[in-house]
Amino acid sequence: MRIEPCSHCPKDSVIYLHYAGRHLCREHFTRLFEKRFRTTVREFSMIRKDERVVVALSGGKDSSVLLHCLSNLKRDLPFELEAVTVDEGISRYRREAIKSARKEADKTGIEHRVISFKRRIGKNLDELVEKKTNTPCTICGVLRRRLLNDYAKEVGANQIAVGHNLDDVVQTLMMNIMRKEPSKLSSMVRQDGQGCLVPRIKPLLQSPEREVAAFAFLHEMDIIHPRCPYAHIAFRNIVRRSINEIEERYPGTKFKMLSSFLEIEQSLKKQYSEQAIGICRLCGSPSNADICRFCQMIRF
Ligand code: SF4
Repeated sequence: MRIEPCSHCPKDSVIYLHYAGRHLCREHFTRLFEKRFRTTVREFSMIRKDERVVVALSGGKDSSVLLHCLSNLKRDLPFELEAVTVDEGISRYRREAIKSARKEADKTGIEHRVISFKRRIGKNLDELVEKKTNTPCTICGVLRRRLLNDYAKEVGANQIAVGHNLDDVVQTLMMNIMRKEPSKLSSMVRQDGQGCLVPRIKPLLQSPEREVAAFAFLHEMDIIHPRCPYAHIAFRNIVRRSINEIEERYPGTKFKMLSSFLEIEQSLKKQYSEQAIGICRLCGSPSNADICRFCQMIRF
């Protein structure tokens, strides 16, 4: 099979970017990827000098690439960085992912901790799923978000960095529209940190998933582990497939979806920030209901 040369130098290309019509070698691809990462951090004012950032490190490709790029950024922008992995207690899955997370954290020399559902709330995800009141991913998402937030507050972090890439963001955008949850759109990209919430940042939000995977592969990250056994039931899978089909026919669609959303984001923020947010009567966290979803899931 003929390998196309890089569009910028005589070396062999390792990736073709359909939306840009360019073949790139390892060096030019790495340069583009890291430049886009830094531009995103700057453009969205994600991290300031001397702030403390906690990376949510799952052991998968996205958060491993995020940790790698943030630890490189630290050389030019001094800030404190640590990594935390949430162990949801998913049998035959999370143990392998934690091993990968440890390896990646060791490579960067960044401090790494593991916190678990079992130790923090007394039950693991497998036990909570048995009650069948919500889908596994809904329970997992709500609980993981709370545990990460609590941990970030305990260590005095200014931000929680999550590995959501461009594909994740546009899928979430579509899912929030399809589920008729427009209020969630307003905090999808820029999260200001209402009440006791630590702001979440997404420095990979302009990086397509395919490129994050290529970056992880080209930088020899150890991220091969079993797929979460609950992943196949996620609504997200259907949305992912549909958006990928459209992207294949019309390259650049994902970028256009993100930029369309960013144009209306401020109006959405204005509209929904005017709505009063209450607090949960059991835990005191911001909530639109009398009892927040976290308390509903762990107490009833
Ligand atoms: Fe949690 Fe669902 Fe992801 Fe599994 S696939 S780790 S249950 S969010």
